[in-house]
Parts: sequence; C-alpha cells; structure tokens
Amino acid sequence: MELSVESRCIHLLNDNKSDRYGSISFPIYQTATFAHPGIGQSTGYDYSRVQNPTREQLEKIVASLECGTDAIAFSSGMAALLTIMELFKPGDHILVDSDLYGGSARLFKTISEKNGISVTATDFSKDNIESAITKDTKAFFVETPTNPMMNITDIRAAADIAHSIAALMIVDNTFLSPYLQNPLLLGADIVMHSGTKYLAGHNDTLAGFAVVKSSKLSDQLRNIYKTIGTNLAPFDSWLVLRGIQTLAVRMDRAQENARKIAEFLQNHPKIEKVYYPGLKSHRGYEIQKKQAKGAGAMLTFNVDSYESVKKMLSNIRVIQFAESLGGTESLLTYPLTQTHADVDRNVLAINGITETTLRLSVGIENVNDLIEDLDQALSL
Ligand SMILES: *Cc1c(COP(=O)(O)O)cnc(C)c1O
Repeated sequence: MELSVESRCIHLLNDNKSDRYGSISFPIYQTATFAHPGIGQSTGYDYSRVQNPTREQLEKIVASLECGTDAIAFSSGMAALLTIMELFKPGDHILVDSDLYGGSARLFKTISEKNGISVTATDFSKDNIESAITKDTKAFFVETPTNPMMNITDIRAAADIAHSIAALMIVDNTFLSPYLQNPLLLGADIVMHSGTKYLAGHNDTLAGFAVVKSSKLSDQLRNIYKTIGTNLAPFDSWLVLRGIQTLAVRMDRAQENARKIAEFLQNHPKIEKVYYPGLKSHRGYEIQKKQAKGAGAMLTFNVDSYESVKKMLSNIRVIQFAESLGGTESLLTYPLTQTHADVDRNVLAINGITETTLRLSVGIENVNDLIEDLDQALSL
C-alpha cells in the first residue's frame, strides 16, 4: 500500500508503535542521553545531539513528503544552510540566485566567503548561468519561487547543467513546501527548508531541514551535524510534527486565498504590479505549472507610492505587519527594512525590490475578510 501525500503528513506506514501506553500523539523524548543495556550495546539512541526518537519521527515524515531517503532536522533554516555549506572547502565556488532570502544572502556573504568559498550571484530565471560557471564551481543554490520577487527557475534544466560539471543542485523549497513541489524528483541533490514556515505552520517555533536521496550526502551531512550540533530539540520536533499534520489542508486553503487576493490586487487602481506565479501574466507561469502542483500562497506587489506603503502598514487590521511567512495568519512584510535589510541596495534595485514593494504571506482566514482588510487599508 502506498500512502498519498495528505496521509503521509499524518502517518508513516511502518510506524514504530512501540509506545507501551498506545499514545496516539508521538511522545516527546525530552532527554539529553540514553542508558545502555551493556558494553557495546545501544537502544539505537545514545545522545540527543546525534539522534532522538521524537526528532527521528519528524525526519522520517519530512523525508517521505520530499520523496527523499533521509531528512535531517535543524534548529532553524539558517542552521540547515550553515551545515550544508560545511560540505564545501576553501577554493570552492558556489553559484547562487541573485534574489534570495536576505539571511541566506548574508550567510553566503559574511560566513561562506570568510571560509574561503567564493560566491557568485546570478539570476537563474533569466541569465545564462553557464557563463558564470568556473572550474571550481561545486554547487548551485536557488529558491523557486524566489524570496521576495517570485522568480521561477526551471529546476530540472538547472540540475542538468549542475550535473554536467559534477556540481550539486541545492533548492530552498520553503516557499512551496513539499506538498506543492518536490525538487528531488526534478533532479535536485539537496532540498533545504526553513521548517519555521509552512511545515511548522503556526509561527510558534523555528526549524530547518536538509533532505537528500544519496546515502553519501546523508552520511556527510549527518557527520557534520553531529559534530557541530545544529540539531532540533525534542519539543520543537514535536511542534513541527503536529504542524505538518495539517500541511495539506493549510496549503490548499492558503493557496486558494492567495489566488483570489492576487486577482483582487491586480485590478486595484493603487497597485502597480503583482508578482504571483499563479497568474498567467507571470514570466515563470509555464515552468511553475510544469514543475509544481500549485503556485503557493506567497505574493509580492508594488503599490503606487511610499505614502501608500506607510498607510497600508499602519492601517491593516486582520493582516499583521511582521516578518516571516507560512503560518495560519496572514502577514505583510516590507522587504526593504525587514527580511532584506542587509542586502546591498544596488542588488535590491536590480532585483526590483523598491520602497513600494510589499510581500504578503496569505494565511487561512476567510478570504473575504482579507480582501476587505486590504481594500480599506488601500483606500484610506
Ligand atoms: C525564513 C527563510 C529562511 C531562514 O529560515 P529560519 O528558519 O528563519 O532560519 C531561509 N529561506 C527562506 C526562503 C526563508 O523564507
């Protein structure tokens, strides 16, 4: 029997039902260490930095959702990326997308470069990426859709180029979640997630993941992980396990809301442009349709003036002005001073992020309330 994705958010077929009380909710093994039956013997668990049953259950579910063979749970998305970057050594070159979550761009710029890894940014959605490859290029790193400009990269085409030079294709799949897109099935070697967003789903904890299908990468990453201790704690693992149970229904509702809001904004006189890959007018619409099950629930738009930005941010009443995304509640973000504050202003300008750019994470509230809220905040 093969379980569909909705069921895999909740069940593992070969679940370890060893709990002697028959607990339905997976127990939180809040322990740092484990007793050994004798010398050279182990219950399978020795120390929670290396492995913990609650975290392991979460990792199995995420591996199954991403169609990988192993998923590793980290204390945050940035901890996942930091660990992935330890696969590389001084002299290596990484080609990254020019439009990325600001924290990832900062990690590449301030930490990877200090460690001797050179990083070149290019627009994977439209540039000729082959011309940016050097003899030392060891990996490509992209988000698709990108944060915040919603550019779409053809994952399979980029993975083919990466593999032709024996480089790794790494995809940050945070914006769509494994419910809507599975990069490993499109040729990616490593999928990264900020589990803080759709996977946990309730803005109540931080988490990160790296998912792979090769046992070599799994061994390498697990070895780095147990050495540097970037692991997710048992209680947070449990929170993410609970959040994932509703991933499918949350994504369905949020995506449906996002489509209606994108259409509303597109027709609003104060909105200059809407970036949502589910709109036919979006440059990446066809690729998005081909490689993902939906366009997701994130959208970015430009209003007519900085005055309108200020008014909107202070007048929204249901939607809240905050960073982050992927929770049940809708959040409006101002990338220029929030998520992308540390990115060079020139780079932001090239990417199209201006003082009138806003990013909306659409939640699962009633869509009419959200549209009414946007409408009143725009018309004030
Ligand atoms: C939030 C985010 C991250 C960072 O994850 P944290 O869990 O906040 O450390 C990385 N990539 C994307 C696309 C994100 O939105």
